[in-house]
Amino acid sequence: MYLILGGYASLAVDFKDYIVVIEGPQSEERASAIITEAKRLIPGKPIKYLVNTHHHFDHASGLRTFVAEGATIITHQINKAYYEKLFVAPHTLSPDKLAMSKKAPNIETMTEKRVLTDGNHVIELHHVRGSGHNAGLLVAYFPKEKILVEADAYNPPAQASAPVPMPISPFTSNLMENLDRLKLKVETVIPIHYAADGRKVTWAELQRAAGRAN
Ligand SMILES: [Zn+2]
Repeated sequence: MYLILGGYASLAVDFKDYIVVIEGPQSEERASAIITEAKRLIPGKPIKYLVNTHHHFDHASGLRTFVAEGATIITHQINKAYYEKLFVAPHTLSPDKLAMSKKAPNIETMTEKRVLTDGNHVIELHHVRGSGHNAGLLVAYFPKEKILVEADAYNPPAQASAPVPMPISPFTSNLMENLDRLKLKVETVIPIHYAADGRKVTWAELQRAAGRAN
């Protein structure tokens, strides 16, 4: 699997017959750059799935580009009606790739859990229950690698040495409650809003941010 930085973080995962991309954020320009990079890293395979963490504009503004690419969008059930409108909305003043390709959108929804696997890679998608940030927030968890991909539940400071923000973010506390509930063992965190210094964000850092470390 590959971490694609240089903007919001995305992941490209090399499944046996296709690519899974996690997060299509920001804009058509950014989404196109992610698609180009994913195909460069994993040549000769189509992007079959785009996993969308939530519907906020900065995390969803690249989705139309992935639909134009032929990817199926995986998102929480609550977004279905909105995305069905979003993906067929006419773009007449400045047609985007989807307006030009007129691709029919494919949306697959989930509620609490979905597992993507090719028999080797395993990606678990979990609903973050009770998030004050977004009702349909999803995280991705890689059980073999103990990696958690999360959006907006913990946005790390530029440097790891920065003091823990007070009060503790209720979004971070809520994430920890969900990780407890799901019994997920995390070693590495990949925040979509990646740390500006490019560091590896550890479980220890997330615990500190949630006020749990001693
Ligand atoms: Zn958000």
